[in-house]
Amino acid sequence: MSKPRVIVVGGGVIGICCAYYLSKRNATVVVLERDAFGKGASYGNAGVIAAGHPPMNKPDRVKYALTKVFDSTTPLYIAPRFDPALAAWLWRFSANCTAQKLETNMSALAPLGHTTLELFAQLITEEELDCGYQASGYYEVYRTEQGAAHARQDVTLMCANGFGAAMLTGEEVGARLASLKNSVTGGVYFPDAATCDPYRFVMEVAERVRRAGGRLEVGQAVTEVEGGAHPAVRVATGERLEADAVVLATGAYSLQLARQLGCRLPIQPGKGYHRDLDFGKDNAPPLEATCVLGETSVFCTPMSGRLRLAGTMEFSGLNHRMRPSRLAQLTTAADQYLSGIGASRITSEWCGLRPCTPDGLPVVGRLPGQTKVFAATGHAMTGLTLGPVTGSLVADLVTGATPANDDTALAPARF
Ligand SMILES: Cc1cc2nc3c(=O)[nH]c(=O)nc-3n(C[C@H](O)[C@H](O)[C@H](O)COP(=O)(O)OP(=O)(O)OC[C@H]3O[C@@H](n4cnc5c(N)ncnc54)[C@H](O)[C@@H]3O)c2cc1C
Repeated sequence: MSKPRVIVVGGGVIGICCAYYLSKRNATVVVLERDAFGKGASYGNAGVIAAGHPPMNKPDRVKYALTKVFDSTTPLYIAPRFDPALAAWLWRFSANCTAQKLETNMSALAPLGHTTLELFAQLITEEELDCGYQASGYYEVYRTEQGAAHARQDVTLMCANGFGAAMLTGEEVGARLASLKNSVTGGVYFPDAATCDPYRFVMEVAERVRRAGGRLEVGQAVTEVEGGAHPAVRVATGERLEADAVVLATGAYSLQLARQLGCRLPIQPGKGYHRDLDFGKDNAPPLEATCVLGETSVFCTPMSGRLRLAGTMEFSGLNHRMRPSRLAQLTTAADQYLSGIGASRITSEWCGLRPCTPDGLPVVGRLPGQTKVFAATGHAMTGLTLGPVTGSLVADLVTGATPANDDTALAPARF
């Protein structure tokens, strides 16, 4: 049988992982990226492979946050404006913040999390990826009783789904992370998690796709997609490219192309920010391991000699406008929990758009009514984490293999 020719649209972590596993399954792969590989949301994220971590749709926490969304100093912020699509999305999102939904989401996500950890370990070892990968877990630390209560809920959920999570007293967590301030009253250690430099990860995997004979093309904005038995895409230059299958992995920008095939994907761009801090030549970041600062949801990741502060969720439309106050919030949060933050220099400020679905699950599978056009998007806060398992799942579906993981809950047709 001849090799299937597959076009992957979008060269973020999801598109590149799809291309990698497709090339492993003997497909001829072309990745079309309109900008540069790995420079979308995948570029500047917190770099945490947080398998098994509960999704955003939590009954109490998010419902509480939704009452404060117009306050730009809270982790979740909505820029006030007239936007019926966002209003409808928020309504659906809120309706999905129930204990029952959280449980069903965890049942769908947990097996994916276990598989993705195995795939990461395999990728790193077999492909010798140079991306700062460290399988040493991460910590959540908190300062308040409310923070402790949220952490306990996450621990219960994660343990029930087979992931390690251990509560620590303030003293215990302080003994492990010397830079924590005394205001930290306790924490959790998640031993199964890993960290890496997310951009280096994408570029390393892209290089393996190239070595396997895949074509990676930049400056190729796809403007049209055709479905049916002979799918094709048209790029901005007007050129039409045919394939045996097309995978749309365009992150927060997935609506337009899917809509051309009659599929309305309810994806909203959830803007997040990073600020990288440098502590001077010869000085390592003053933090021994990655931490999320519980009450603020800001991640602090030691990465390639600097400290990356990353977080906040802002719904302000499909744009990359940065609000200085949101960036400042990252430093303010870090300063509340960690010593030595003031002695740093800012080396990078960035924002990226997480592709967020209202039910908290990614969208992976055939578009409704299509046999040869697939979507792989909607990974919100877990695109790096679920990159390998998504790529492997898409490769199974495209090549007609039985999927190694149950993909029913992820189907685009659920909307
Ligand atoms: C602040 C922040 C922190 C985060 N931290 C973590 C974390 O610690 N762990 C984790 O797992 N996840 C994290 N995430 C989430 C993660 O970054 C995303 O889920 C992930 O990057 C999504 O990957 P993607 O490939 O779908 O999208 P993207 O990386 O945005 O890639 C999509 C690509 O498609 C291209 N494209 C779009 N339209 C077209 C078109 N028409 N033609 C051609 N190309 C097109 C874009 O240029 C882009 O390169 C974080 C996100 C943010 C913002």
